[in-house]
Amino acid sequence: MYFASDNTSGLPPQIWDALRRADDGYAPGYGGDALSQALRDRLRDVFEAPEAEVFLVTTGSAANALALATLTPPWGAIYCHGLAHIEVDECGAPEFYTGGAKLVLVDGPDGRIAPEVLAERLAASGRGNVHNVQPACLSLTNLTECGTRYTRAGIARLAAIARDHGLPVHLDGARFANALVAEGCTPAEMSWRAGVDALVLGGTKNGLMGVEAVVIFDPARAWEFALRRKRAGHLWSKHRYLAAQMLAWLDGGLWLDLAHHANAMAERLEGGLHAPLLFPRGGNMLFARLPRRTHEALQAAGAQYFLWPDHQNDPETVSARLVTSWNTRAEDVDRFLSLVGSEVA
Ligand SMILES: *Cc1c(COP(=O)(O)O)cnc(C)c1O
Repeated sequence: MYFASDNTSGLPPQIWDALRRADDGYAPGYGGDALSQALRDRLRDVFEAPEAEVFLVTTGSAANALALATLTPPWGAIYCHGLAHIEVDECGAPEFYTGGAKLVLVDGPDGRIAPEVLAERLAASGRGNVHNVQPACLSLTNLTECGTRYTRAGIARLAAIARDHGLPVHLDGARFANALVAEGCTPAEMSWRAGVDALVLGGTKNGLMGVEAVVIFDPARAWEFALRRKRAGHLWSKHRYLAAQMLAWLDGGLWLDLAHHANAMAERLEGGLHAPLLFPRGGNMLFARLPRRTHEALQAAGAQYFLWPDHQNDPETVSARLVTSWNTRAEDVDRFLSLVGSEVA
């Protein structure tokens, strides 16, 4: 019963096969190989963006920080939600890689930025005042850290507000595939058509071994990203092994099938849980309030998940963050549910 995170899963056999096939003789390094070039073309097709540039890195934190640094000067303000991974979980990497830009937190329920709050913040930004950081970039996350989802209209609305103030938009898509299949739209519709300028397309949480693609839709920004990646020590020389994985992942829509399975397992969990949820489920994450007794029985039975600080101050309950993945087994979900059921009964 592994619900701690979708990064605890292994790799699908198709990815190992692709790695083995790529492991054949010699190939140029640093992305000059045939697989890296093929991946660049494939992602341009998938995103219907012939001008886009594609850069692979091995962690989502590096992908986010380098993308943000490309969009933001050192005196810039990056507008993001208070629960954003870039704010909470990256040890200051965005501030470090931008050379000191400031994250400005914008509230909104369920991990989503509220459009009216963003508009207020930007109206009072202090642009042009030498004493203030200068508005530089809007950063969104989909799925959000609360497991909720921005619709593509929701992204477009926020991006339009950013655009009115001349700000480009970064999208942290560590769980882009899960959001995409839940939303049922095309990759283009959930990225550049909705106003996204730089997308982090996460592979690691959906079946890859450390592959994240930064897709930059404005080719004018690409060279700077390339230099920043190298300077940061994130230009992998044996690039073919990254590209091979992501190509196999895109082949035949495997990435969508994997995300679909993860979402379906979360749906199964939600359907049988009969516990209050903290946030509406947008994909493959679920936050449920459980009696502490139930939590203890689940722990004793070996279930793995993290607790979420819910500030309820109720000693009788806990809030559990449950994340399903591409290889979550239905029988494990059912076993979890039967343990919850027998404790509640
Ligand atoms: C997992 C995750 C990342 C990437 O994390 P790394 O551990 O650096 O790969 C980025 N954003 C979100 C929302 C995540 O959940």
